[in-house]
Amino acid sequence: MKILVINAGSSSLKYQLIDMEGEKLLAKGLCERIGIDGHLKHTPLVEGKTVFDEDVAMPTHSEAIAAVIDKLTSPQYGVVNSMKEIDAVGHRVVHGGEKFAASVRIDDEVMKALEECTPFAPLHNPANITGINACRAVMGDVPMVAVFDTAFHQTMPSKAYMYALPYQYYLSDGVRRYGFHGTSHRFVSSRCAELMGKPIEELKIISCHMGNGSSVAAIKNGQCVDTSMGFTPLVGLPMGTRCGDLDAGVIQFLMHKYGYSIDEMLNILNKKSGVLGISGVSSDFRDLGKAAAEGNERAQLALDMFHYWVAKTAGAYAAAMNGVDAVVFTAGVGENGPDSRAAICEYFGYLGVKIDKDANNCRGKEVLISTPDSAVKVFVIPTNEELVIARDTRDIVG
Ligand code: AMP
Repeated sequence: MKILVINAGSSSLKYQLIDMEGEKLLAKGLCERIGIDGHLKHTPLVEGKTVFDEDVAMPTHSEAIAAVIDKLTSPQYGVVNSMKEIDAVGHRVVHGGEKFAASVRIDDEVMKALEECTPFAPLHNPANITGINACRAVMGDVPMVAVFDTAFHQTMPSKAYMYALPYQYYLSDGVRRYGFHGTSHRFVSSRCAELMGKPIEELKIISCHMGNGSSVAAIKNGQCVDTSMGFTPLVGLPMGTRCGDLDAGVIQFLMHKYGYSIDEMLNILNKKSGVLGISGVSSDFRDLGKAAAEGNERAQLALDMFHYWVAKTAGAYAAAMNGVDAVVFTAGVGENGPDSRAAICEYFGYLGVKIDKDANNCRGKEVLISTPDSAVKVFVIPTNEELVIARDTRDIVG
């Protein structure tokens, strides 16, 4: 069974074609500048086929999908003979609200429900929906599945997901914590259980997804019981450019003092804050590490704040789960940042965590970085959200 995985953004579209026999990646690619002019980079991973990296006119997502299918099936660049060989499509969808606690086969009713979730993710869901509609238009009857970033967190108990606001805002408006990066937390926690050789139903795992966007999740007996992102992905840890947790009073204070509109304020909180805002250097952890090593104190402060927040959030989750068996680091910084992992694990002495310095000096691969006598196992596990989407799609489509 061959499955096309689509992650559609407002002006971009990432894809992978995966052969589920052996879970082999056949091709991957990225359409950019959709609605502006259009560019496609298509990388076949089959011998004898050529990379395509050129401008292609993409006034809408439909032309982007058509260009992807054209390349996937072309004699020179392609990895399949015709579209008929693509058995199903799995779509990443950011927000499934409370309606979707699991992945679902897409039909007209599901599309309607996705539209209803749009107010929760006004920047992301419309792009995901546009991608699905374009795919349905171009690919006709090929079965499609939606896989949600929020779904894994739907197991959180109400004491974890409720805000202490008047209850009516939850009842009538769905205002609560939803959490994001669920596909990634689900993948690495299940892989962690496999690596430990134990059923996930018997484990307490803290999953640290540390990338440009970052979140921590507490996974007890295979179910998410808490996570650091909330109603939107703005909160929790300080991130590349997002502020993380913030006293709402600061918003009122700054808007009043500088006359910012709500859009200007949100732009500051989403795009100009986080480690970029603190350091004034970059949102990229590689740049921060370099600047800090050269003596830039604000870059060091940004790193210190990030590590501190990951550690204190993990500490809260150790309390919430009454213990922890394993900590997992994943995503860009989690997979490639030994210094960040070491700095965070420094805080875990009280848990009996001991890190093997040599093992921790790894990048981009699956490694147990704790010592044999560490009371808690610590893993680096590269995330693979596309594979989760493909597996769910296979399981649902049959
Ligand atoms: P992601 O959002 O998962 O793609 O992660 C992006 C983040 O990972 C950026 O801040 C990068 O600086 C960081 N990253 C990627 N490679 C490295 C590396 N070798 N060392 C430290 N951070 C890295």
